[in-house]
Amino acid sequence: MAFEGLADRLQETIKKITGKGKVSEQDVKEMTREVRLALLEADVNYKVVKDFVKRIKERAIGQEVMESLTPGQQVIKVVKEELTSLMGGEQSRVAVSERPPTVIMMVGLQGAGKTTTTGKLANLLRKKHNRKPLLVAADVYRPAAINQLETLGKQLSLPVFSLGTEANPVDIANQAIEKAKEEHLDYVIIDTAGRLHVDEDLMDELQQIKQNVNPDEVFLVVDAMTGQDAVNVAESFDQQLDVTGVVLTKLDGDTRGGAALSIKAVTNKPIKFAGMGEKLDELEAFHPERMASRILG
Ligand code: GDP
Repeated sequence: MAFEGLADRLQETIKKITGKGKVSEQDVKEMTREVRLALLEADVNYKVVKDFVKRIKERAIGQEVMESLTPGQQVIKVVKEELTSLMGGEQSRVAVSERPPTVIMMVGLQGAGKTTTTGKLANLLRKKHNRKPLLVAADVYRPAAINQLETLGKQLSLPVFSLGTEANPVDIANQAIEKAKEEHLDYVIIDTAGRLHVDEDLMDELQQIKQNVNPDEVFLVVDAMTGQDAVNVAESFDQQLDVTGVVLTKLDGDTRGGAALSIKAVTNKPIKFAGMGEKLDELEAFHPERMASRILG
């Protein structure tokens, strides 16, 4: 299960302090030392850990805790609030364009779960929000990617727009948007090409699509299992494309949690959704507070 090691360690650390009628500075120092180690072991970015620990230490040695009647409880509250804010604070929403269709561009490395997430997101928008999405196959390099999206479309009974592998991705995107307008579909979700690594050609192509279609959202799909690599990938995509949100996939696996806990702080972009399995209904809105509660038990 995701976050298992981190959850165990944090819960154990915090348990030591909860029952205390009085909390000394020494207690706080010991706790923060253990929190720091637990986060580093969970592969959280070094600088993120440093800032996080500094904040909880300041707050826990402050009045809010020291003058409280139940300081142990108060410490947990501080850790939970800071963990929530680390993952983005409030839950964030998907844009709705005033002039439909709302255009969402999906980007990410190959294997991150981009195509699957495109299908899942369309499914979620239809089911939860009663929207009519159009899926767009703009990965022209891999015929398998187009087939995969078409299969997803069939499974979900949702329309898929494709012009095969010969067309230019910008044209595909533009024509898809025209079609959505004609057919009064309200979301266009563009599945773009991925590569095994971030490279210039890929970024050029994605930038061109972005400039031409002016999407309402650019969602970066990253694999939570890849830890700090996911964070580095997020940083480079964000620098080139100014993404509007992140989708963390494979949070159902046994990821240590580093990506989930570092991405917002490093990129300052919100995690909008979490992939919780391979099935098409296994995409959830990302709730920082619920995730923090899950970790702290
Ligand atoms: P793409 O190359 O980025 O388009 O990646 P795909 O959508 O083809 O996904 C790659 C693999 O990851 C597939 O086997 C998916 O079923 C799997 N996958 C995607 N999202 C999730 C998820 O949230 N959880 C799990 N367990 N597997 C996922």
